[in-house]
Amino acid sequence: DRPIDRDQRAGLKAIRDFLRIRNCYDVLPLSFRLIELDVGLTVKESLNILVQCGIVSAPLWDSSTSTYAGLLTVNDYLNVVRYYNLHADKLKDVDKLLLSDLKDVEKVLDVKPPETVSASPEAILYDALRQQLVSRARRIPLVSYDSDTQRTMVTSVITQYRILKFIAMNVKETEVLRKPLAMIKLGTYGNIVRCTMDTTVLDVVDEMVLKNISSVPVVTTEGILLNVFEAVDVIGILKTGDYGNLTWTVGKVLSARSPNHPGIYCCSLEDGLDTIFETIKRSRVHRLMIVDDNNYLKGILSLSDILHYLLVEGQEETNPT
Ligand code: ADP
Repeated sequence: DRPIDRDQRAGLKAIRDFLRIRNCYDVLPLSFRLIELDVGLTVKESLNILVQCGIVSAPLWDSSTSTYAGLLTVNDYLNVVRYYNLHADKLKDVDKLLLSDLKDVEKVLDVKPPETVSASPEAILYDALRQQLVSRARRIPLVSYDSDTQRTMVTSVITQYRILKFIAMNVKETEVLRKPLAMIKLGTYGNIVRCTMDTTVLDVVDEMVLKNISSVPVVTTEGILLNVFEAVDVIGILKTGDYGNLTWTVGKVLSARSPNHPGIYCCSLEDGLDTIFETIKRSRVHRLMIVDDNNYLKGILSLSDILHYLLVEGQEETNPT
C-alpha cells in the first residue's frame, strides 16, 4: 500500500463524506436565474431564447397542466436535426414544430424524449448524484412538490460542472488526488470518435447521438488535436432557423464561432485529479482532451468520467452506499 494509494483513498473518502452532508440546494449560488420554456413555444422560438440568454438547456413547463415537462437539452435539437434529415419532405413545416411535439419526433427516431429524471432540492447530494449516474443525465433539475397547492415547482438545474466546482472549492483533500490518469485508468482511450475539419456537421451529429457523447475531437490525418466540435455548437448553427447549414463542414462552423469562445482544455496522462480540480476551479471546463507532448490525441476525460470515479471507484457498483 504505497502512500499515493492511501492518499488517493483518503481523498475520495473526504469527497464522499462531504457529498453525504450536503444537499442539492447547497450547490446553488446565492442568487441565480431560472429560465423555463413553455411547451407551447416553437422549437425555433426556443432556439432564439437560448441564444439570447446564453444558455444551452432549460426546464420545460406545461402550462395546461401546471407541471414540469422535462428538461430540454441540446440532445433534443440533435434529434430534430436527424429527424429532418430523414424526412426532408417535412422540412417545410419546421417553423411550426412545437416543443410539445419533440416527444413525437423522438418516438419516430426511437430515442429517449426530454429527460424527466429530477431530484428534490433537499435530496442528499450523494444520493442525487448516484441516481444521475444510473440515468446518465448530464444535468439534474431540482423539482419540488408543494403539498399545500399540490403543485410542482422547478427550483434550478445543476450541471456536472457546477457539482465538480462545488467539490473543488470546498474539499481541500482534492489536493491529495495525485495519482496520474494513466495509473487510475480514468478517461476513454479506445475507439475515440473523431472528425476532421472537412467532416460535415450532419455526420458528426449522427455520431454524437448514436454514441451518446457530447463532443467530437477534430484531428489532422496524423491524429494531432486541432479543436473540439461540441454538441452545443449545433445551437449556434440552427439559431437562424436554417437547417441547410447542417451541410457545413466542421471547419466552417468552428471559424464561425464567437470570438469569446473559451476554447478547449487539455491535460496529459501524467496529470492527476489534483491538477484537474485546479483547472475546474479556475475555468468552466466541459471536458479535457488528453494529449501527449506533441499534441497527439490520446484520450478524452469527460466530467461524467470524473464524477463516476469520485462516486464509485473502489466500491461495488451494485452497492449504492
Ligand atoms: P459528459 O456526460 O461529461 O458530457 P460524454 O457524454 O461526452 O460526457 O461522455 C460519455 C462517455 O463517452 C465518457 O466515458 C467519455 O470519456 C466518452 N467519450 C466522450 N467523447 C467521446 C468520443 N468522441 N469518442 C469516444 N468516447 C467518448
